[in-house]
Amino acid sequence: MTDAAPPCPSCGAALRVVGDFLLCVREDDGKRVCRTSLPCPSCGAVWTVWADRPDSPPEPHPFPQVIRKREGGGGS
Ligand SMILES: [Zn+2]
Repeated sequence: MTDAAPPCPSCGAALRVVGDFLLCVREDDGKRVCRTSLPCPSCGAVWTVWADRPDSPPEPHPFPQVIRKREGGGGS
């Protein structure tokens, strides 16, 4: 576990680490690996990193609207 969030590739702000995981099949090695969601509090972009590769560069989240909706504090 690490709490060090990487900077946003888009604007350079520190990303937030939310306890939100997405199970994906990684094309690199065909393994099922969790991805950690990293929403940017500054520009609103949502990124992910592989949970077992926290030092890898963030990639765009495939479903950013899900995270944005959840982060938005409810409503409908
Ligand atoms: Zn940003």
